[in-house]
Amino acid sequence: MMIVIMQASATMREKSAVIAWAEDAGCHVHLSEGNERTVIGIVGNGRPLNKEQVERMPGVERVVSVLKPFKIASREFKPENTTFPIGNHMVGGKGIIIMAGPCSVESRSQIIETAHAVKEAGAHILRGGAFKPRTSPYSFQGLGEEGLKYLAEAREETGLPVVTEVMEPALVPLVCEYADILQVGARNMQNYALLHAVGESQHPVLLKRGMSSLIEEWLMCAEYILSHGNTRVMLCERGIRTFEKYTRNTFDINAIAVAKHLSHLPVIADPSHATGRWEYVEAAAKAAVAAGADGLIIEVHPRPEEAMSDGVQSLKPERFAQLVREMKAVAQAVGRDIE
Ligand code: PEP
Ligand code: MN
Repeated sequence: MMIVIMQASATMREKSAVIAWAEDAGCHVHLSEGNERTVIGIVGNGRPLNKEQVERMPGVERVVSVLKPFKIASREFKPENTTFPIGNHMVGGKGIIIMAGPCSVESRSQIIETAHAVKEAGAHILRGGAFKPRTSPYSFQGLGEEGLKYLAEAREETGLPVVTEVMEPALVPLVCEYADILQVGARNMQNYALLHAVGESQHPVLLKRGMSSLIEEWLMCAEYILSHGNTRVMLCERGIRTFEKYTRNTFDINAIAVAKHLSHLPVIADPSHATGRWEYVEAAAKAAVAAGADGLIIEVHPRPEEAMSDGVQSLKPERFAQLVREMKAVAQAVGRDIE
């Protein structure tokens, strides 16, 4: 792939000429219109690209070859942070975005009660799984479409946008009808058919890191979504598998800094799955914000002992409210804020 950085003064006609050159050469074009300048990504799909020819075109400032395997996801392609609004909040900007709610939608009253509680505590987005990827086929698999309807009702009542997991390509249109953000779960990170389908949707995507995935593999999965035309991707670090058994996963705090360095995409941290125990969620959440995360996704349940999934890692609403209060100081210390 090569990246064509246009001069700030480049005209529409000059940009169009570069795009036409690439299309004539049988390449794919990815356009990134920044505040200051336009960057045109040209993907050759194995064809040799004549860099010098493009360098000589009017309006072109310079041409860079991207050597990293991820291209559109890379900071080379887009140096400034990607930001986009979700509801009334901007993801990837100065504000830290907080998503909270139960692991699973269990009933209409449970999700509506939790939605009110997390909103009251300061959350910006409601989470809740309707389709659950469970380790055992005998465990609760989620309420399916009924759960999506309850989530939509909870959004109606509270105004909170909704993030929920989609597990198969065929269900992307259904989940899009009810949800504001599509979550691709850790177990499905490399489900390429699913990445293709969410990449063709117009919904923002929360892409969780696979539990044994390299950072590069995770970014390559973001690349799949981006290459299908969806620019609104959030990366989510949710802990990885290591030899340590005391916690459910090992929170890879490095991955937050590395992903922010390599990519322009917003990075969200999931301290609930990363630790697997509610007692440690607070420490991991604060560390994530200090390390540069753009947001958090936290499991909250009004009665964790009754939860149908992930009760041991779920915070009670009061604890969650306290965490949000305490996190404001952490955010401020690193030049961010929590609205
Ligand atoms: C979840 O968010 O409840 C979930 C199943 O997460 P993960 O895919 O990270 O395990
Ligand atoms: Mn969960």
